[in-house]
Amino acid sequence: MAATPSSNDAAAPDDACRPCGGTGTVLSGQGGEPHPVTCPWCEGTGRRVAGHDAQAARRAEAERPD
Ligand SMILES: [Zn+2]
Repeated sequence: MAATPSSNDAAAPDDACRPCGGTGTVLSGQGGEPHPVTCPWCEGTGRRVAGHDAQAARRAEAERPD
């Protein structure tokens, strides 16, 4: 995974996306059953995007029937 050597990887990087924990994927309950979706906060990068509007992606997804 990370190339940075560390004896303690319990703590997420400071710039890690909190909602997805740096995985780039979150579970969405939309549609009834929880399913993994690309994290709208970091666009799947796993890193926090300053000033990113996650709500915009949510709105776009809401308008798209699954
Ligand atoms: Zn994320």
